[in-house]
Amino acid sequence: MKLRRIEPIAVRLPMRRPVKMAGELVSAAHNVLVRLETQDGIVGWGEAASAPMMTGETVASMVRAVNQIAAALSVIEDPQDAQARMHRALPGNHGAKAAIDIALYDALGKGAGKPVSELLGGARRESVPLLWTLATGVEADDIAEALAQRRAGYAAFKIKVGIADAAADAERTAAICRELRGAELVCADANQGWSRDDALRYVRGIEQLGLAFLEQPVAAADVDGMAQVAAASRVPIAFDEGVHDVDDIRRHHAARAAAGGSLKAIKLGGLGEVLAAAELCHSLGMKVNLACKIAESGIAAAALLHLAAAVPAAEWGVSPTSHNLDDDLLASPLRIVNGRAEVPRAAGLGIEVSEKQVERYRLANR
Ligand SMILES: [Mg+2]
Repeated sequence: MKLRRIEPIAVRLPMRRPVKMAGELVSAAHNVLVRLETQDGIVGWGEAASAPMMTGETVASMVRAVNQIAAALSVIEDPQDAQARMHRALPGNHGAKAAIDIALYDALGKGAGKPVSELLGGARRESVPLLWTLATGVEADDIAEALAQRRAGYAAFKIKVGIADAAADAERTAAICRELRGAELVCADANQGWSRDDALRYVRGIEQLGLAFLEQPVAAADVDGMAQVAAASRVPIAFDEGVHDVDDIRRHHAARAAAGGSLKAIKLGGLGEVLAAAELCHSLGMKVNLACKIAESGIAAAALLHLAAAVPAAEWGVSPTSHNLDDDLLASPLRIVNGRAEVPRAAGLGIEVSEKQVERYRLANR
């Protein structure tokens, strides 16, 4: 595929309501889109959230990285070839690379008349149940939202913890679990919010609740701490911020630091990389959650759904996050009915991006 142009577009997308998690309160999403044009005139779209606390990348660094990498991508054979070229042009920068990679898959799919799920080896499922994240940080608000979404058809929930002290977080978790009795899956995510002692206090406080997993209780780099918490916990421990490539997954597995974890394109650098990570997890007996960052538009959400269709399993849920935005960038929204999302079937990502909407939320070039 010959490429004519790869353009990074920084956007600020207002959120429907702020999301509270350990270390930050997020009220708008600062994401980078990639609009790519082939010599044949096909346009591909990609997106990645800036997530300084997860990937170390900012909107400004991502825009620069996309521009720098673009020069190395005038002709590509396939996504693997593109990844190799991107790595030679600039190591790391997985968020920027994910946005380019998704746009390449979109363009390749459109060129071949195939949905991205097919390029990823084929759709194993036509729709996927979604996981709803509770992130108000306030017990009564989390409960009200959980009950409303349960009525709307959601059966899987993630509670953001690591916000208050561990004992208060455990009490809030218990209160929400009481209201969600009978739900298919309830889990919690501490976003590295605790010390080892806090995490141990929390897992003792919630051991009777039957949580499916507890995500990233301690710092990303503290794999020994994850292992210590995992050894003391009846609830399975999941990685998120601590994993950026397949070697990190092997390290967590070898250290018995996690029974599975959350996979995101912005951490792993592309869709093929997430698929490979999910396949590795499956072969190691580790469970998988597939997720977008706090608020990514329907572009990243569509990419996630194609992945969710193609991976061997996503036992720990699938969480697109475009519903956290006030407005979307798609001409028509993704179909979500009764807490399940349909995997788009049209070529490429199977979505139509509204360039008018993109312009509306575009940030001035920096
Ligand atoms: Mg997480």
